[in-house]
Amino acid sequence: MKINKNFLDLEESYLFSTVNKKTREFAAAHPEADIIKLSIGDVTRPLCPAVIDAMHKAVDEMADEKTFRGYPPEQGYDFVRQAILEHDYLNRGIELKLDEIFLSDGAKSDCGNIGDIFATDNTVAICDPVYPVYIDTNIMNGRKDKIIILPCSAETNFLPELPAPGSAVPDIIYLCFPNNPTGTVASKEYLKKWVDYANANHSLILYDSAYEAFITDGKYPKSIYEIEEAKSCAIELRSFSKTAGFTGLRCGYTVVPHDLVFDGTELNKLWFRRQSTKFNGVSYITQKAAEAVYSIEGQKQIQDNLSFYRENAKIIFEGVKAAGFKAFGGEYSPYVWLKIPEGFTSWSFFDELLEKCNVVGTPGSGFGKMGEGYLRLTGFGSRERTLEAVERIKKTFSK
Ligand code: PLP
Repeated sequence: MKINKNFLDLEESYLFSTVNKKTREFAAAHPEADIIKLSIGDVTRPLCPAVIDAMHKAVDEMADEKTFRGYPPEQGYDFVRQAILEHDYLNRGIELKLDEIFLSDGAKSDCGNIGDIFATDNTVAICDPVYPVYIDTNIMNGRKDKIIILPCSAETNFLPELPAPGSAVPDIIYLCFPNNPTGTVASKEYLKKWVDYANANHSLILYDSAYEAFITDGKYPKSIYEIEEAKSCAIELRSFSKTAGFTGLRCGYTVVPHDLVFDGTELNKLWFRRQSTKFNGVSYITQKAAEAVYSIEGQKQIQDNLSFYRENAKIIFEGVKAAGFKAFGGEYSPYVWLKIPEGFTSWSFFDELLEKCNVVGTPGSGFGKMGEGYLRLTGFGSRERTLEAVERIKKTFSK
């Protein structure tokens, strides 16, 4: 028996395990410290009442022989995919078909699993800094030497530049806006350049819009399909996690348009084959919960939570600016990307913030080499703790 040696190419420890370990050690050494965590990208507000009601009803249906449901349809029940189709696409002027939407247990699984349908020798362009799952899953699939890094720096407002003419053309391009970790959003004009590039070179874009719900300004697209001709070059990954607080419930979806044809084969067919073989669907109760997100009450209630997180991010952004830091993001994103002072590394500043303010951030270097010199703070905490953390940062660092 031999193992998949690609796994040995992965970095030893996952970023958040190290953050948690360091935080635990600090807490043990300083039991009096009142630690505030602005590190983790997880929601804290409970599921909204419309979702809870829908789940209670679904539980009762499962308890009755007449309404009990077994295995769900491979791509998800029509009721939820129809709600997704109408709300997220048709009502926004985007033509898609029901069988182009695949419901799943979240965007993380889809980000990783989608790699199954691509050849191992494809080259893959990935931004730096980045959500680590894109890199790690490509390494697991044996594409370690096929990764082309797209560096993102403050000079370009953390938007990756297109590969220069004459340089290697990536087969697959990962893009994520609003971005984790930098909080950057991309305009339609900017994304059009990538769509044109992908179509011209027959590359595939994997567009992660897990944070689209944070966008409130129409000049920033929520979906890659708001860009003309994106259906022939892009797969879109979406999640209910940050949109509706489903991080613990688990639901997301992936859009694979029929127009995506590579090597004479529709990617939609391949993804259907992959999912129907290796995935047995999202629970009925969760699908009813997801459907309820699109009800009139559900929409209002999730917007209340989203505004709350947005306001937290704004408080952090303005607070750290007032303390003299340079910062990015925080407007159409729950993340604030803080430029740390000269003389610190991401990890040494993580320690400084923990020691001086008892505030936990996430070191930017954990998201890639280009993240060195930055720290990510999140707006997913409570209002009271967010305000307290910002006060401590201002007190400690304001000149
Ligand atoms: N994509 C990005 C960019 C994320 O930051 C996250 C979660 O933090 C995900 C996907 C995963 O979402 P899900 O909870 O649906 O698996």
